[in-house]
This record gives sequence, C-alpha cells and structure tokens, in this order.
Amino acid sequence: MSQPGKDRDAKVQPAAGWRSIHESPDHSKNIRSENISYLKNAERHDLKFIFITGGVISSLGKGVAGASLGALLKGMGYAVSMQKLDPYLNTDAGTMNPLQHGEVYVTDDGAETDMDLGHYERLLDTHLPVNSCFTSGFIYSRVIETERQGSAGEYRGKTIQIVPHVTDMIKHVILRQTISGAKVIMVEIGGTVGDIEGLPFCEAVHELRNELPPRNTLSIHLTYLPYLRISGETKTKPTQHSVKELRAVGLRPDIIICRSDEDVTEDTRYKIAKTCGVAFDSIFVSKNLDYVYMLPEHFKEQRLVEKVCELLSLEAKPFDIGPMIRFTSNLAALKKEVRIAVVGKYVDQESPKDRQEGVKKKPITYYESYKSVIEALSHAGVRHGRRVDICPLEADDFKFLDIAEELSSCDGILVPGGFGDRGYEQMLAVIRYAREGGKPFFGICFGLQLAIVEYARNVLGLPHASSEEFRNPLSDPPGEDFIYFMSSWYNYRTGTIDYRKRDSSIGGTMRLGLQPCFLNPGTRAYSAYRGAYDEGLRRGAENRSYVYDEVPLTESINVYRTAFSQDIDPKTLADLERDAREKGLLTVYERHRHRYEINPAFHAVLTLGPGGADRFVISGEAPKFTVKGQNTPPHIVEVMELEKHPWFLGCQFHPEFLSRPLRPHPLFLDFVKAASDFKDRRKSKGQHGS
Ligand code: GLN
Repeated sequence: MSQPGKDRDAKVQPAAGWRSIHESPDHSKNIRSENISYLKNAERHDLKFIFITGGVISSLGKGVAGASLGALLKGMGYAVSMQKLDPYLNTDAGTMNPLQHGEVYVTDDGAETDMDLGHYERLLDTHLPVNSCFTSGFIYSRVIETERQGSAGEYRGKTIQIVPHVTDMIKHVILRQTISGAKVIMVEIGGTVGDIEGLPFCEAVHELRNELPPRNTLSIHLTYLPYLRISGETKTKPTQHSVKELRAVGLRPDIIICRSDEDVTEDTRYKIAKTCGVAFDSIFVSKNLDYVYMLPEHFKEQRLVEKVCELLSLEAKPFDIGPMIRFTSNLAALKKEVRIAVVGKYVDQESPKDRQEGVKKKPITYYESYKSVIEALSHAGVRHGRRVDICPLEADDFKFLDIAEELSSCDGILVPGGFGDRGYEQMLAVIRYAREGGKPFFGICFGLQLAIVEYARNVLGLPHASSEEFRNPLSDPPGEDFIYFMSSWYNYRTGTIDYRKRDSSIGGTMRLGLQPCFLNPGTRAYSAYRGAYDEGLRRGAENRSYVYDEVPLTESINVYRTAFSQDIDPKTLADLERDAREKGLLTVYERHRHRYEINPAFHAVLTLGPGGADRFVISGEAPKFTVKGQNTPPHIVEVMELEKHPWFLGCQFHPEFLSRPLRPHPLFLDFVKAASDFKDRRKSKGQHGS
C-alpha cells in the first residue's frame, strides 16, 4: 500500500477505467458507493482539491490563472491534474462554433473540449489525463440514461432530482481524478457564479468541501475590479456581490484573485478583505499582462503558491520558473519579424451584407478560434528569434479582395482546420497562389484536404476534383472525390475498428485524439521531427520532442499499450513500431479530429508529377492494421508535401495541440523557419535590385 502523500509526486496517469464514463457506460456500478470509496481514497492519500470560480463577468482568464497556479505547484514537484466543468448543456464542445466559443481543443484521449484545456496543457507543459473536461449536458445525459433503466438501474424508480442525483454525478466526475495519481486536483467551474446552469456545480463543490478534511480543499474566486476613470476609483462592490452569491450557494472563498486594468492599492485589497470575509494576505491581483506566460511569474512575485500551500497544509518546496521567464523575456524582446497569413473560416463575424459591400472590419475573434495555431506559431517564432506577425484573413472575404494584394506582404500562408463548404473556393485560390508562387504553405487538416483538391484541379487538370464534404452534387461527379468520407478506421484507444455511416450523428463521431503516424525518411516532415528531437537531446530530456521511438511522448501512451486486443493480426503496434524503426521510419503521435480523409484511390496519381510538374510525396502514414475476421480499414495518409516547392506541407492531424512554449512543435518550427528564409531571400533580392 502506498504511503499517504508519497509516490504521488511523479506523473499524472490516465484514470483507469475512464472509458466506463466516456464510451461504455457501466450501469452495474453505483455512483454513490463509488463516490464514498473515492473520498476514502482521497483522504488516505491526503489529496488536495482546489476549486476555482469566477465572478462579476466572464472571460476573466480563470483558466490561465488556474493553469499558472498549477504550473507553480507542478514546479514544486507535485503531480497536478486540472479539470474544467462547463455548465452549458452541450454534451461536449465538439459541436460548438469556434466563433462563439473559441477553438475546440482536443486532448490525447480524443475528448473535444473547451479551449481552456489548451491553456492548462501549455502552461503546465503536460498531457492532461482523461476525464479533464465535462459539461452539464454530459452529466444530465448520464443521469437520464441511468433513470431510463428503471428498476434495473441504480436509481430503482426513485424521483430524480438535481440534489442528490445530478450533484452525485458531478462529484463522481471530480472524484475520479483521485485515481489519476495527482496530488493536487484543480477544478475550474466555467461561467460566472450566479448563472442558473452553474448552480448544481457549486452545490456539488459545497458538498465535497464538507465531505473532505478541512485542510484538503480550497476555494479560489477570481473577480473583476472595474475602474471608474471619471472618479479615478477602483470599485469593489461587484466583487462583494459576487462573493455574496458564492456564499449563498455555500462556498466561502479562501483566496480572492482580483483582475484589474489598473494597479490595485493596499486600501482596495483591505476593503475587499473586510467586506468579503477573507484574510488580507489572501487577496491577490492578476494584472493585465502582455503575454499569458507571464502570469506564473506575476503570481510568484506575490507568493500566491506559498499561501495556497499554507492553507492546504502542503509543504512549500522551492521551485524554478527560470525557463518560462527566459521564454517570455525572449518573446518580449523579439525584433525581427516574419509575417504569416492565417486564412480560415472562423476569423470574424462580419455580416454577409458587410461582406457584400466589401466593408472590412477589424477581426475580433480569430485569436480565440485559432488559439492553439497562433500560440504554436509564436512558440516557434521565439525559438527562431522572430516575432510572428499574424495576418488573419477570412476566406469568404476573398470574394471581394485581391489575393496577391492581400498576401504579397506575407512570408508564409497557413490554412487551418475547418468544416463545411463556406469559403472553400477562396481557400483553394489562396493555396494555388502559395503553390505557384513558391511561398511557404502549411495546411492543417482541412488545409491539407484543400491542398489536395487544388492540386487535382489545377495540376492534374481535373476541374471536378472535390471533397465529399463540399462537392456540388449538381456539377461535380462523385467519381472524383479526392477527399472522401472515412467509413472505418483502426481505433488505437480501444484496439478495435470503428465504423461510421454518412448519416451517423455528428457529435463525438470523428476520428479523434492521439493516433500513431510513421514518417518516411528523406521527407521534410521526417527531418523536421528528427531535427527537433536531436535538438531536444542537446537541450536535455524535457525538450525531447514528439519522436516516440526512444522517449515516450505522452503519459497516456499506456492506454494504448494496454488497450490492444489479442485479435490484432498479424502484428501488435509494438511489432509494427519495431519494424518501422528497422526500416528507418519514425513513429510520432499526433492528435486528430476529422471525418474525411485523402481517398486511397488517388494516392498514386498524386505522387506521379505529370509532365515534370511538382508532385506530392507521402511523408507520413498511419500503421496498416488488420484485425482477424474483419475487413481491413483503408490506408490513411497523414502527411503529404510537395517535392520541389520550397515548403508546401499538409497534415491530417492537428500539430498545434502539442506545441508548448518551451517545446515548439517540429512542423511549426520548420514552417516558421521556411517563412523566415523566404523573407530573408526576398529582402536580399530586393537589396540587389532583382
Ligand atoms: N472537415 C474536415 C474533416 O472532417 C477537416 C476537419 C478539420 O479540419 N479538423 O475531415
């Protein structure tokens, strides 16, 4: 039996049996009795829980604040898990429009989550374990599923109520973190205190605080202090009201973090302490900072983590955030620039009328829709000593704008992920401009699929080449779907083949999460990963990146190792990896989120290069599995690149989700380098008057 507090300081492991929550509900288990055993486990191991709520207004940066605190605790050597509980009724974030809710972030286990999980992973430099994001929609649907079992299920005909049934289910998803190996379990409640949807979450946290030992839970409330310019005052009243709301649902804050646009004086802090019943030295400030990565340092200066440790009876160990401080000071000091156009479908919310009239408004939302892409570009920029100047462009706007005029000042073009037919013709035109002009091009998921269609139409001369996702059924014959619907694939998490129909429901049914990819030597993709890996070896273990053969990429990898069924024929993943290594291939693991894929019927024609034209090279592919007694799923190509073009590469996965400030992603590193070289070449040509 492990010692309380001991062996919990290592890594966070995926919670065993998580699939019973996400994939195959096991109704024989009793939520209540399981909760009791989790609570006992938490007490036995002296686990600490930190609950974070927000007040006054939304978008205060609770996620970033929580993740910064988590990063400091991790720096002390504690295993930290972070979880987001979102009160909205969607089952998960997968069906939400990025323009409204920000990007859909994907974790190793294939959960489609709130973008805050990206902050957690980037600031903690971690791969979050399973069970890291839940919504009210998911919780209610599990409760109702159980109710539908009637007397055969665990509710046995009782009246189902918010308290205790919904709150028990909420406590259940929180308490499952106790078997993840984390010493400190951080839980952020989305939204603002007082929202109707959020009440059951607050109630569940209130119950948990009563059920766990007093020094083992902490409530942190993040609020906003508005500044009235006219009277030159920072107002505390909204904070007082929000703490009142919090108290009304039984949650007394132990720490208040004040977000403010102006400096917060001692007097103001004193007033908040007095009126909110919180100790003066437990009032902290979260200033507006230039970069989110500065927040850990900002909190360190205020000794926030020491206070947290004191209140939780945790030893405050020494920690070093030097590398993050160096990263932010390098970021702030960047002088040389490289300009990258991000041409996407979720850039801004202009009305169609504005578009018709060619009114161009300042894009306001792209930063949220493409958060991880933007961050990944900036991580790579810092490594190359370049400030990445992002030029966000809404694909649809190219109906009115001239491509060359808009893009000539850019040194690289990135087409990120997307869904549906809106703006696809314009994206094809942008890709053609990059291909023909020798401008570095990076296509991510939808971006790769479009690059294939563009090549088929304009190089192979097939004007009707298309994707099943946006083919015009009236004009384009189905025979030329270069991108087609994936009706089956090998699922590495479950060790089975997943089947889909075109009319399957939309939510949660894509090929999701971490999947292996073999990279072929001699390709740009291979050398990008190999280069980053070798660089990692030089810099030390923490920077080794993305090459799985020697250093496991992810803490979740054991999930795959144990998930393989005996039916795989003829080889297991380990055998395939060994073979791949012998052949000189690299195995990397990347996160996916797609429903369509490059049609294998066209792999050959894409790699021919008619009449000496540039040709595609297959640089990465999924391992080819067969399963006894089942049809072999079609071959999946993961990365393709043009052979002669200076840098033209597309990947089916989303590399942006694995980029970290101190460990930029190899493909982003290589792309930003290519764009910087493009800029330097252009400059030197210009200087020589050519
Ligand atoms: N819509 C495409 C697909 O489902 C691309 C998805 C994406 O870009 N994530 O395959």
